[in-house]
Amino acid sequence: MSSQITAYIALICTSGVMNLFLTIYAFGKRHHYSTVLKFFLFNSFVTTIYCFAAAFGLLSTTLEQIKIWTVFQYIGIAFAPPAGLLFIMAYLGVQMTKKKIVALLSIPTITVLMVATNDLHHLHYRVFEFDKDLGMPFVHQEIGIWYTIHGTFIFSCMFAAFILALSRWKETAKPYRPQLLSLICGQFVPIFTAFVYLIGLTPAGIDPVPMVLWLSSLFYFWSIRSSGLFAIMPVAKDVIFNSMNDGVAVLDESRRLIEFNEPLRSMLPSLNKKMLGYEFEKLWLELTGVPFSVQAFTAKSSSDIMLTINEQEHIYKIRTSTIVGAADRKGFLLIFTDITELMQLHKKLEHQAHFDELTQLYNRRAFFEKSNREFDQLRAQSAPFTVILIDVDHFKKVNDTYGHHVGDEVLVHVAKTIRLQFAGQALFARYGGEEFIGLVKASLEEGITLAEKLRGAIEQQPVMTEGGPVKITVSIGAAEMKNETLHQLLQRADQALYKAKETGRNRICIAGKDEEI
Ligand code: GH3
Ligand code: MG
Ligand code: MG
Repeated sequence: MSSQITAYIALICTSGVMNLFLTIYAFGKRHHYSTVLKFFLFNSFVTTIYCFAAAFGLLSTTLEQIKIWTVFQYIGIAFAPPAGLLFIMAYLGVQMTKKKIVALLSIPTITVLMVATNDLHHLHYRVFEFDKDLGMPFVHQEIGIWYTIHGTFIFSCMFAAFILALSRWKETAKPYRPQLLSLICGQFVPIFTAFVYLIGLTPAGIDPVPMVLWLSSLFYFWSIRSSGLFAIMPVAKDVIFNSMNDGVAVLDESRRLIEFNEPLRSMLPSLNKKMLGYEFEKLWLELTGVPFSVQAFTAKSSSDIMLTINEQEHIYKIRTSTIVGAADRKGFLLIFTDITELMQLHKKLEHQAHFDELTQLYNRRAFFEKSNREFDQLRAQSAPFTVILIDVDHFKKVNDTYGHHVGDEVLVHVAKTIRLQFAGQALFARYGGEEFIGLVKASLEEGITLAEKLRGAIEQQPVMTEGGPVKITVSIGAAEMKNETLHQLLQRADQALYKAKETGRNRICIAGKDEEI
């Protein structure tokens, strides 16, 4: 073996060992870190295979052996560039869907299959034979159509990773720049070497890339050990900007839209980058049909707005603030927070606080809140008003005979009948278990007429329940307001109800009067 080849093998093995170390290191940490590390592990693993297969290739003594090691080399040659690209993308926070990753890795998979089966179709190498002039283990090869596709693909991957890393240079915070620089250099080494090889500046018949990969490994080592790669990574500002939950719009001093994020685009689906530079208020009106005034919102600094998006109503809280840029140029920052769920919850809680869940009538608390107010008003106006207390007769028996759920159906029925009979003329509530209260804005006579209608309706219509028709009756106590407190008035109505129960039920008794109806 010539000393030249020995030197090649030594260099290639150095690259192999260093990549093996990186692979073991990354593998040991795989549970701690994110996808970034997994792609890094993938990259160093396939690169390790590449290097050692290249070394074994150089030690081969037959063409058959060389072919086998070439297939192994291609696991690295074909997969390392897309793995490197995925690593750089993950490092810079560029999201890739699983489908896209699979699509990206399908080409290297085909390449490895093509190389393994090349003797059958010669699509990758048209010619692959000993180099008669140089002797073993140098190979004379002529490329086929798939080689061109594969070459274009891997160069595109390497180039894309390199350009992506470079493009983030400006927006990367200073402390992270050495880390980014070392990753850029790590990417650049194989691109440069492969390029030099392709234009024929390296010794013929031998791939020089694995001989220089130790240099890339050194850059990666440095990143890991000195700048904490995997532990601290820069997150591109626009990734944060786009992954916030809130929609954000930035306007210049003339209120033209100069920047917006992805969540704002979800809010306003027709919004697109071509609209940058448009006057925001006009644009908003065009896109939503709702007028919007930056001035008004800035004055209030926060307000709510309702939008219908994809036929669903959304409520947004809008916060605005003024931004002062260079040369005292003012701008505006608008932040849109979707508070739909919060508002729905708020409404639900408010409803639950005021309404009885079963009958959907006001509950006792809401009744007192409202009736206290009405009581004071009506008393001040000396307007007549009557309190009616309704209690279902022998309701316990309904529960005992048919079960609690049929009892519930009966209560819902009574509530419905009350609503129907007193529509708009009284404030009604569920007062207790099977007891209802009504505040009728009318004289005692009118109140009693309505109450009598209600009593009759309930008596005549058996409740159609799951357990069959159930006949029920109600007893009613009525009291007209005199010069007294609401509490005293209710007490008198309660006494009248007690009397209705005492005297046989299914009737109305009036407070302060002996007769019953
Ligand atoms: P009275 O004619 O003297 O009013 O007799 P009653 O059986 O109607 O009155 P009592 O106060 O003895 O019983 C009321 C029953 O109402 C007792 C309670 O279990 C039942 N109840 C209270 N709230 C509910 C409810 O939400 N659903 C059902 N199904 N039953 C209820
Ligand atoms: Mg009862
Ligand atoms: Mg009762």
